[in-house]
Amino acid sequence: MLTTAEAGNAILSAMPAAKTEAVALEKASGRVLQQSVVAERDQPPFDRVTMDGIALSFADFDNGTCRFPIQAMQAAGDPALTLDAGMCIEIMTGASLPTGADCIVPVERICLKDNVATVEKDYTTALRQFVHARGSDHLQGTELLRPGMRISPMDVAIIASCGLSKVVVSKLPTIRVISTGNELVAAGEPIEAHQIRMSNGPAMVAMLEQHGYTNCAHDHIVDEPALLQQRIAEHLDVANVLILSGGVSMGKADYVPEVLGELGVDVIFHKVSQRPGKPMWFGMGPNGQAVFALPGNPVSALVCCRQYVVPALHRAAGLRDAPPEFASLAQDVTFNARLTYFLPVKLISGVGGQTLAMPVHTNTSGDFAALTGTAGYIELALEQSNFPAGSGARLRRW
Ligand code: AMP
Ligand code: MG
Repeated sequence: MLTTAEAGNAILSAMPAAKTEAVALEKASGRVLQQSVVAERDQPPFDRVTMDGIALSFADFDNGTCRFPIQAMQAAGDPALTLDAGMCIEIMTGASLPTGADCIVPVERICLKDNVATVEKDYTTALRQFVHARGSDHLQGTELLRPGMRISPMDVAIIASCGLSKVVVSKLPTIRVISTGNELVAAGEPIEAHQIRMSNGPAMVAMLEQHGYTNCAHDHIVDEPALLQQRIAEHLDVANVLILSGGVSMGKADYVPEVLGELGVDVIFHKVSQRPGKPMWFGMGPNGQAVFALPGNPVSALVCCRQYVVPALHRAAGLRDAPPEFASLAQDVTFNARLTYFLPVKLISGVGGQTLAMPVHTNTSGDFAALTGTAGYIELALEQSNFPAGSGARLRRW
């Protein structure tokens, strides 16, 4: 049986890279960038005035002059004027510094009368005060964004500032989430006492969408080999990634691995030394489709989706790995099985600023209601049984 690390690595190395496409700037937020974004011009592109006021020559002010006749007015978007000796130019925030001017006095510190600006008594200033110098943020040609990052709203500003109306990103994979099981009934449908509400599918679609993978559709297939084969084949024809839940254990109605084999999906592993999620199955379809068959128990399905499917999608998208996150256990935990334990946790902030993980025990891996309010889960090592309060553990947020 594979360890969790071996299973994770086997998946990552099997994932084919996503194709790329150009998207409009307005649609770029949340997508994974696949090009370099390089400064179109120096930033600021000119000496930019940062206060409304007057532009003057610092040497004039330094010589003791405090009355400056107003030569003209220049606003943001106006070409730079040339300042005449002994005069000032009324200037607005965002304007380009007039040629010959090298100091701004804010409007609050002057008195305007008869077209003359008088600087407040005892006002002191400095050369280039309130001037945001050309190129002082970055120079033309500087690489501002690198491939492999998820585009944030702040990055959208950078892309726009570089004059790009389109940007190259990874294509979103077509994902099919498939719930298997005779007992499953969708929300909104009448239900019998012996049946179960189908919750894994909608929850996994929501999780994948939260991570930026919005091209997901859900299907339900009953435990019937011929039907499973026909419907999974249809999904394999259109999808890059298939995520099944249920039907991978040792039960008489657990047909999924066999059916996938018949469809030419090569098994890469079946079973991982973990709780929850031990029966998990993973394989690759004939056209490079990644096929995850997760156990049906809701906690198992959600943990496996977050632990294996989300990182696999990130890898295919070319998203650079985020540094791992850790938290300190808020309580002692004992877990004796020789399995890696994924333990759901709520997070609390310690007074010293540390992140504390408060274990939330589920009543079997069917108890998904216990997951509400959890931030994610911590990973507790297979070789160890006792995990004292205060010890650190890898945290994954849902
Ligand atoms: P299985 O892995 O098919 O043996 O299912 C294990 C348990 O998870 C059973 O109690 C199923 O009823 C339950 N289960 C399977 N699929 C789902 C689903 N999509 N939503 C909620 N529960 C499920
Ligand atoms: Mg089942």
